Amino acid sequence: MTYKTTYPYTGEVLQTYDDATAADLEKALTVGHDLYKSWRHTSVKERADILAKIADAIIAHKQELAQAMTYDMGKLLTEAEGEVDLCASIVSYYAEKGEEFMADTPLETPAGNAHYIKQSTGIIVAVEPWNFPLYQVVRVFAPNFIVGNPIILKHASICPKSAQLFADIVLEAGAPEGALNNLFIDYDLVSKAIHDPRVAGVCLTGSERGGASVAKEAGEALKKSTLELGGNDAFIILDDADWDEVKAVAPGARLYNAGQVCTSSKRFIVMADKYDEFVDVLKDSFSKAKVGDPMDPATDVAPLSSKSAQEKLQKQVQTAIDGGATLVYRQDPVGGDGFFFEPTILTDITKDNPIYNQEMFGPVASVYKVNSEEEAIALANDSSYGLGNTIFSSDIEHAQRVAAQIETGMSFINSGWASLPELPFGGVKNSGYGRELSELGLNAFVNEHLIFEP
Ligand code: NDP
Repeated sequence: MTYKTTYPYTGEVLQTYDDATAADLEKALTVGHDLYKSWRHTSVKERADILAKIADAIIAHKQELAQAMTYDMGKLLTEAEGEVDLCASIVSYYAEKGEEFMADTPLETPAGNAHYIKQSTGIIVAVEPWNFPLYQVVRVFAPNFIVGNPIILKHASICPKSAQLFADIVLEAGAPEGALNNLFIDYDLVSKAIHDPRVAGVCLTGSERGGASVAKEAGEALKKSTLELGGNDAFIILDDADWDEVKAVAPGARLYNAGQVCTSSKRFIVMADKYDEFVDVLKDSFSKAKVGDPMDPATDVAPLSSKSAQEKLQKQVQTAIDGGATLVYRQDPVGGDGFFFEPTILTDITKDNPIYNQEMFGPVASVYKVNSEEEAIALANDSSYGLGNTIFSSDIEHAQRVAAQIETGMSFINSGWASLPELPFGGVKNSGYGRELSELGLNAFVNEHLIFEP
């Protein structure tokens, strides 16, 4: 039994789940394929109406969903509640915009009449991670529901409770069987599914290793794939930044979700004359952040998602220090059996430090000192990742000019990272390819079918 709910606050295994078998997968493929075929004869409007009901059902089950996420991977209950609200808004967004996004597109050509129609392509396998157990699923499920692509979900093995609860809610709200089939399958069965002719594509959010492995399978099977992988996002403070805004945003940009966000700010890049002040600001706020019980609204930093995540981060911090980094701050250990990681600040990370190009998935901030804007941009770009970045400047055009020079899929000006239904989400370089959310996310697994008459 690979899939289990282990509560990160206590380390206790709360529930185990039976693994799905090859027969379960075959059944899901049959049901999903039948649905794909029948959906081709129904309207987008019919699916949009069901999606609107699913949005209501998500809100109606808000507490249950939020608690399931906290038990599965330890996030603060308040953050989990916010995640449920965001997910309901994503589902509503596609319910409202679905018909517009799926409308026929006329094409200009002197050679005749041409337009393309958007069509479904088949079952999509969604391989999702634990850091946002509901959001990661919803941003694939909602657009593909509008398109008419059924989803087979392989969620992270540490968050089965949230995965199954959401799949049950979707069904109960009126979705046809097979629209979202949650399966507790292993990697071999994921591979088998990707190679099955009834499957049209696969998307994965997670590590580079997981992404490369799933994309390799997809390539061999000639299936389309999208990948949303890690990031090592820069938080660049330009010399004309509003310092009060910086102070208000920087700590949360790193500590939200216990730092386990692909696009949270991980590398703080500060001009030399403000460097000491910035480190003090971060130290002060990190020392006040309360680490503890994720169900307690007074807690600021939840435990990490698993023992292995805790051990990996511990090892990375040690690697950084062994490589010459300075441990400027780390809160005293909380103790107990929870998978806690106390807010930590590292400086003096040089290019030859093995951690320089590694993502640290937890509440660890790295602060870098630079002497010019050019140096800041070069440092931000000196990464194998290219997901997002944050730029602080009181001159928006200045910030936009800098943003255009950063090799990432997203830039956030005078704010930490953000995710909204209408904003595309995704990266370049080792952070993956393709976009989720917005109309771009809906197009990911669509057949743009040309119809031409000379
Ligand atoms: P993984 O990539 O291992 O897991 C993400 C999902 O992919 C899980 O459902 C996992 O299943 C699945 N998976 C992994 N490898 C395969 C494979 N070969 N075939 C099929 N499915 C696969 O990430 P981790 O949970 O181990 O996290 C490790 C690191 O990944 C983090 O430290 C962070 O750097 C990054 N990450 C990035 C996230 C993001 O939002 N971009 C989210 C989570 C992690 P299973 O759980 O069964 O192993």
